[in-house]
Amino acid sequence: MSTAYVIDPPIVPSLPVVGDTRRFAVNRIYCVGRNYADHAREMGHDPDREPPFFFMKPANSIVTDGKDMAYPNLSNDVHHEIEMVVAIGKGGANIAADKALEHVYGYGVGLDMTRRDLQGEAKKMGRPWDTGKAFDQSAPCAAITPAAQYGHPNKGKVALLVNGEVRQEGDLNQLIWNVPDTIAYLSTLFTLEPGDLIMSGTPAGVGPVKKGDVLEGMVEGLTPLKIKII
Ligand code: MN
Repeated sequence: MSTAYVIDPPIVPSLPVVGDTRRFAVNRIYCVGRNYADHAREMGHDPDREPPFFFMKPANSIVTDGKDMAYPNLSNDVHHEIEMVVAIGKGGANIAADKALEHVYGYGVGLDMTRRDLQGEAKKMGRPWDTGKAFDQSAPCAAITPAAQYGHPNKGKVALLVNGEVRQEGDLNQLIWNVPDTIAYLSTLFTLEPGDLIMSGTPAGVGPVKKGDVLEGMVEGLTPLKIKII
């Protein structure tokens, strides 16, 4: 007999999968902070002294399937951060870096949207980042490309265009912690599960968006992300 609930259970957030009618069910979203040296510097930090770190977004902050993103409340400084998304297919704890890619189902393009003003206040007050980072619709993501099809990228252009103009540009080979090292370290902090996503960090050039902007994110070889801010 199936479990009965006193309220309707939450809908499972999910992403389309390239070449498959089935979807990738999203469990948790981990984000890596300051994983490109030039972005760490633009935020006022020294990448040689401070290693990357993690924060999270809720799974239901995903926006996909060509839907628009609503400009969130209580901010006048919402920023784009283009990132490669790593989709975990096989869970585990204390995963060795040389086995880490066996845990990856595929890769996608995502945006770590940020209420920079609220994040800045939180930093100043020594408070958590959730209001700045984990708000409704803060994780627009494109379709996941299975690694079985595409392989495991360790180089390739990462870029974001706003209204057709290049705002962010970098290369996966500039990641301070590459994908295997990120999975290895993250899995010492949390037991990873199938459906977890890892937003791998953003290159330099983050900046504000406004209502009406069209954001086009790309990572070489992956399905691009296109989203309008409304
Ligand atoms: Mn980010």
